[in-house]
Amino acid sequence: MTGHFETSDTPPGASVSPEDDAWLARAVEIASQNVADGGGPFGAVVVREGVEVAGAGNRVTRDLDPTAHAEVVAIRAACQALNTFSLAGATLYASCEPCPLCLSAALWARVDRVVFAADRHDAERAGFDDREFYELLERDRSTWPNPVVEHRIARAGEPFEVWRKHTARIPY
Ligand SMILES: [Zn+2]
Repeated sequence: MTGHFETSDTPPGASVSPEDDAWLARAVEIASQNVADGGGPFGAVVVREGVEVAGAGNRVTRDLDPTAHAEVVAIRAACQALNTFSLAGATLYASCEPCPLCLSAALWARVDRVVFAADRHDAERAGFDDREFYELLERDRSTWPNPVVEHRIARAGEPFEVWRKHTARIPY
């Protein structure tokens, strides 16, 4: 469901504007250029108050970093540029639907809004696992091929105890 359809349940920012078109075009431009530069076909831009804070392409193969997705790289660069760990007030534009990693990164970065162009099905046709990972997350973990194991050792709660008692902690 895309376009200007809105109901009373639709949060502010759920509709798209011509400005969004322009920023998505910028993200797509970065993505295509990134392929020419030897990277993956993904681009992202962080925008705040109508200004580009940071733009990035996917750097997984160049940096030997499986987490260097365009959105994550752009979020990191934007935080460095603004000298903060919160991107509240910003919008993340992505050339393709953020994968679960990038969507979580956007949530942790507290961006106001995420806008993307292509989707997980387009990504799948190009050989990427976004859709597969979304489906995996919807399944019970006991059915996963790679086990995720909880083993609650005696000291499991210790770091949180230390955190709660640490008066000089920086909440995030
Ligand atoms: Zn991603």
